[in-house]
Amino acid sequence: MKMVICPYCKKPIEKRDQLVTVSNLFRIRPYHYVCYQKVEQETKTIWSFWTPLNGMVGNIRFIILLSLALWFLLTDSLGLGGELIGVISLYNVMIHMTSFFLYEKKVPK
Ligand SMILES: [Zn+2]
Repeated sequence: MKMVICPYCKKPIEKRDQLVTVSNLFRIRPYHYVCYQKVEQETKTIWSFWTPLNGMVGNIRFIILLSLALWFLLTDSLGLGGELIGVISLYNVMIHMTSFFLYEKKVPK
């Protein structure tokens, strides 16, 4: 199985609890937990769009986004605006799932 490599230190991520997957619009990146903290510090001055996908915060976000997507796509709430929110939420749900299958699943617990 292909190893998940951290783009910061170029070393493989060996354990699930070391892994932080973050997304920035269309990109998903896997980092070591410690490396991501360094990345965050280095990019502090610039507005950062990277959002963590896994862990507690990511899971809660995933559930909220999934319910939002289902709600707005399956009902007529807010009309076209609602559909737009639904599509954006659905897109975020896809990002979460992609990150899970692409990285998290490959890193042993
Ligand atoms: Zn690293």
